[in-house]
Amino acid sequence: MNGRISVPTMNDIGSSSRKSVKPSKTFGENVFGRLQIEQSLSPQIASNWLAAMDGYESIDRNHLDAIADALKTWAINKGAKHYSHWFQPMTGCGAEKHNSFLAWKNFCGCAMDQFGAEQLFQGETDASSLPNGGLCKTSAGRGYTIWDPTTPVFLWEDADGLTLCIPALFVSYRSQALDFKTPLLRSEQKLREAVGRLLKISGIKANRAFSTLGPEQEYFLIDRSFFELRPDLIQAGRTVVGARPAKGQQLEDHYFSVIDRRILTFMRDLEEAAHALAIPISTHHNEVAPAQYETAPLYEKTALAADHNLLLMELMRKIASQHDLACLFHEKPFQGFNGSGKHCNWSVATDTGLNLLDPKNNSFHFLVLLTAILRGVHQHAALLRSSIGSARNDWRIGGFEAPPSIISVYLGEDLENVVNQIIHDRSEPKKLGSIIDVNLSNILPIHLNDSDRNRTSFFAFNVNRFEFRAVGASQNVSWPVSVVNAIVTDSLHLILDEIEDSLSRRSNETLLATALPILRRHLKESQSIIFAGDNYTLEWQQEAEKRSLPNFRKSFHSFAVLRDPKTERVFQGILSADELSSRQEVFYEQYAKEMDIECRLMIELFRTQILPAVTFHQKNWAKSISHIADLKISDGKQRKHLEFFSSQIDDAIEAVDELEQNLKQTQGLGWEALAKVFCELLLPRMEKARLAIDLLENQADDSLWPLPKYREMLLMR
Ligand code: ADP
Ligand code: MG
Repeated sequence: MNGRISVPTMNDIGSSSRKSVKPSKTFGENVFGRLQIEQSLSPQIASNWLAAMDGYESIDRNHLDAIADALKTWAINKGAKHYSHWFQPMTGCGAEKHNSFLAWKNFCGCAMDQFGAEQLFQGETDASSLPNGGLCKTSAGRGYTIWDPTTPVFLWEDADGLTLCIPALFVSYRSQALDFKTPLLRSEQKLREAVGRLLKISGIKANRAFSTLGPEQEYFLIDRSFFELRPDLIQAGRTVVGARPAKGQQLEDHYFSVIDRRILTFMRDLEEAAHALAIPISTHHNEVAPAQYETAPLYEKTALAADHNLLLMELMRKIASQHDLACLFHEKPFQGFNGSGKHCNWSVATDTGLNLLDPKNNSFHFLVLLTAILRGVHQHAALLRSSIGSARNDWRIGGFEAPPSIISVYLGEDLENVVNQIIHDRSEPKKLGSIIDVNLSNILPIHLNDSDRNRTSFFAFNVNRFEFRAVGASQNVSWPVSVVNAIVTDSLHLILDEIEDSLSRRSNETLLATALPILRRHLKESQSIIFAGDNYTLEWQQEAEKRSLPNFRKSFHSFAVLRDPKTERVFQGILSADELSSRQEVFYEQYAKEMDIECRLMIELFRTQILPAVTFHQKNWAKSISHIADLKISDGKQRKHLEFFSSQIDDAIEAVDELEQNLKQTQGLGWEALAKVFCELLLPRMEKARLAIDLLENQADDSLWPLPKYREMLLMR
């Protein structure tokens, strides 16, 4: 690349039009939230809408006209010309179909603005062209979008103005869920019932219980001019070739370092736009790999947080491009550098502000919920593994930067002691809480968290929540969180059934004393997933094998669990067997298609860009040697090097030919068989071809290399 692309310096780009207002002032200005609902509708309609937002009532059909009218007035006054249902098909991204407010007025050639109950409540579209896993056919593919009042209606701002967006569910003609949002809402509804039982037994007064979610979003930002020259980044989201530069992340000098001005400007513009949409992002910092960053929100109710994360990713793409940057969410865009995850911090809370996973005092509800979580993860480890499965995340999982494919739970020393005490001891577990004293006269001691951190764990307890660390950066979190909700709900019901039964027989014992033998049995049975050590080590793999924990190194092998009767049972009321198997089909299909794209890209890049460059280099070198030979100067070493270089070109040609041959043999296979072939046969071929190509990159004339190199994309600022 040798300076052929000019990268704007950090000081060239910046937003000078930043508003100097407090974040809380502009927060939610593009959202029809609680305040707008209360201010623009009658108390009766507003209270019905707000109850629907909390998941407790459905909207009364008689209110739809008034609601639509209020939304139309608000949106048009703000300058919107279009509206759209915004839904989450199984592509992993949001989807929208814009309609103008324009309508005929009595067929007299006059136009008017129209947005009524029908437009608000439902939309209809062709669902067969979106991933549906066999639930729709090309010849019978009607799909419906249905207004989902859990997430507030919002205005999306783009170059062409504002669009009124109505969050929606996406279902088939036969009422089957075609999206990731419907199962999430159903799983929340089921969790709420189970937690309601727990609260009742515990004697805790609260009107509502829900899970909470704070997804930490990791991502890369690179200069857009580099991105545009990398067909692999454009089409696959990751580099399928690329040699490691001498300086990678080994000096650990990027994590939490001072943020470049250009990046900071992006982050601040992002924050402003996110806050206008009531997306409460609050943290941003440099991540471990160069050019890698993280942003995290204040946690919210899960369904809302999941929608907000999806919208945030869309905003990030848009704002990055306004800054001449490209935002990459792929789980492993650059080989040899840390990949990106989306740690999903998950807990259960009540509307009275109680966090049920707060370990203080070892309360009854905490110990029951903790046991239910451990049991759920132990019983459904394979399902949990499959919920974060994709060809993309396979590049990251197990790569010594993210959890391995073995599911384990980290509790921290103190909490693990509590669990051990319940398992081995008959007495009630001791309370947590100690202090850290740095032994300096001017520094106050601080309270220690009840658990340390373990960044190698798949599912780690952290302060007062679990952190599902294996989720991939590009994933729609709705799916993995639906799985967490489902498995916890199932175990919670089972444990509460047993406790209630025991209580009815032993009325003279305290609640905890009655529950302890039940908790002890479940904790004992689930104990094998608790692991406090380094999950990245070989010893853990061996130890996990001894403990008979499932280890699906490749996601492909974990998808089979979606047809398991055990999975169908925990998903009762969330997804039917057909809906589950449609998801399995979609996952196989995506796995195969993504790998197919990557293979084709690798072949194309090699043949059309890399091979011409390296053979040109070879030709120049050969010419130079023959000139030297004419002059009778010794050329032995150079001939040897050229010979070696030529043999390396041959190796690369052979590896790519082999890949192409194998790729041709995949034609006509069904999705599952195809995904298996890609996973077991094509993947090793791709890795071999990449190795051969990357060796050439490190030796060919730098000025001839046709693609932006890692050092340019990641280290040039
Ligand atoms: P870390 O130091 O682990 O990187 P961050 O501040 O980046 O922490 O992210 C932690 C995330 O966890 C935030 O999004 C935060 O809102 C979320 N979080 C904190 N408490 C809870 C909770 N009770 N339930 C769900 N998420 C939570
Ligand atoms: Mg973080």
